[in-house]
Amino acid sequence: MKSKYQKIKGTFDILPPDTRLWKEIENILHNISQQFSYEEIRTPSVESTNLFQQNVGYETDVSKEMFAWEDQSKQQIALKPEMTAPVVRAYIESGFFRSNPLCRLYYIDSFFRREKPQKGRQRQFNQFGIEAFGSSSVEQDVEVILMASTCLKALSINETILHINNIGSPDTRTKYEQLLTKYFLQNTKALSNLSQKRLHSNPIRILDSKEKEDQLIIQNAPTIKELLTNTEKTDFNVLLSNLDALNIKYEESPHLVRGLDYYNGTTFEITTKSDKSQNALCGGGRYDFLVEQMGGPPTPAIGFAAGMERMIIESNHEIQKNNIDMYISCNDLKNSTKCFSIMQHLIENDYKVFFDTNKKSVKNQMKDAIKRNVSFVLVVDKNMTIKNIKSHEEVVVSDFQQLLNFLKTQ
Ligand code: AMP
Repeated sequence: MKSKYQKIKGTFDILPPDTRLWKEIENILHNISQQFSYEEIRTPSVESTNLFQQNVGYETDVSKEMFAWEDQSKQQIALKPEMTAPVVRAYIESGFFRSNPLCRLYYIDSFFRREKPQKGRQRQFNQFGIEAFGSSSVEQDVEVILMASTCLKALSINETILHINNIGSPDTRTKYEQLLTKYFLQNTKALSNLSQKRLHSNPIRILDSKEKEDQLIIQNAPTIKELLTNTEKTDFNVLLSNLDALNIKYEESPHLVRGLDYYNGTTFEITTKSDKSQNALCGGGRYDFLVEQMGGPPTPAIGFAAGMERMIIESNHEIQKNNIDMYISCNDLKNSTKCFSIMQHLIENDYKVFFDTNKKSVKNQMKDAIKRNVSFVLVVDKNMTIKNIKSHEEVVVSDFQQLLNFLKTQ
C-alpha cells in the first residue's frame, strides 16, 4: 500500500532492527569518549543563520547549503549544518573557558545540509564528533587522532586510511592562497565550473574538489609544505613520530586542506580504502582562531567529526542478541491484572518481557513466542505454568518468588 505521506527528500528513517545497531554503536562511542575524559554536549537544532555564515565560511562554499529561513518574528534561523560553530558559541556563552581551561567535549547529533542527495550524502545525517579547547600543543593533536583511531577500531572498521597534513598559520595560508591562485589561473580553462567559481571566492577549496577534470591539476599544484615555518615543520614531525609509536598508519596528504575556512595547523581526514566518491568517514583539524573570532578569549582548539551513517555501513560490529526472557501468555481478561503485576516485578528484576495484549489463543501465542526466539512462555490462568519452548517441559510455579528462582537457575 502506498503511504499517503512520504519522507522529505534526502532524509531517512532508522527503523528496528537497525535502531538496535545504532544504539550499540552510539554506546561504544559514548564509552570511549568517557574513557578519554570527554564530556557530552547537546545544543539546539536551530541557531542564528549568521553563526554559520560569518564564522564557518558557508557563504563561500556553494556546495554546502543550509536549510535557513526567516521565522514569524523576522529572526534568521538555520538548522545546524555542523557542530563546531554551535559548540564554540556554547563554550563562550556559558563561560566554560573560565571554569575549565582544558575543556574536552563530544557530541552525537543530527545535521542538515541542503546538498544534492546521493549515495552516502543525505540532507539530514548524524555525526559523532569531539572538540578540545585550551591546548595548542602537538600532544593535543596526537590525543585527538588517537581517539578517532580508537573509535574506528572499536567499531571494527578496519580498512581505513588516515590522511594528514599541516596547513600552517593564517599567514602561511594567505601566502599559499596567493601561490595557488597564480597556479590555478594558469590552468583556469581546464578547471571544472565549480572550481572556476571557487578560484575567485576561495581558491584553497579547489583542492577539495571531487570533480574528475580537476584531479590532475590538483595533483600538480604547489603544496603548503614549502611555506611552513621551522616550528610548524618540527611540530608536524613530532605528531607523525607519535603516530608511528602508536602504530597508527597514515599518509601525508600535502593537499588536504579541509572544507571550511577556519582551520589551521594539523588537518586530517580518515577515509575508507574504497575509491567510491563518498568515502570520507571522519574529518578534523585545528581551529586556533575561531573562538576569538566569535567573541571569546584567544583559545586554541582542535576537533573532528565522523559520519555515523558511513561508519555504520563500514562497521563489522556484530549486534548483540536481544533475547526476551519471558513471554507472558494470557487470554482471559480477568487474569490481566495478575499478568501486569508479574510483568512489573520481572522488569524491576532486570528481565526482558513480552506481553501479548492481543489475547490470542495460547496455541497462537506459543507460535508467536517461537517466532520471537523466546525460550520460556508463562501461561497465566488460575495457575502460572512455565513452558520451555525447546524441551516442551512444563513447571508450575505458585508465586513470583518461585518464578524468579526458576529464572535464576536458567
Ligand atoms: P564534515 O563536517 O563535512 O567535515 O563531515 C564530516 C563527516 O560527516 C564526513 O566525513 C562524512 O562521514 C559525514 N558527512 C558529511 N556530510 C554528510 C552528508 N551530507 N551525508 C552523510 N554523511 C555526511
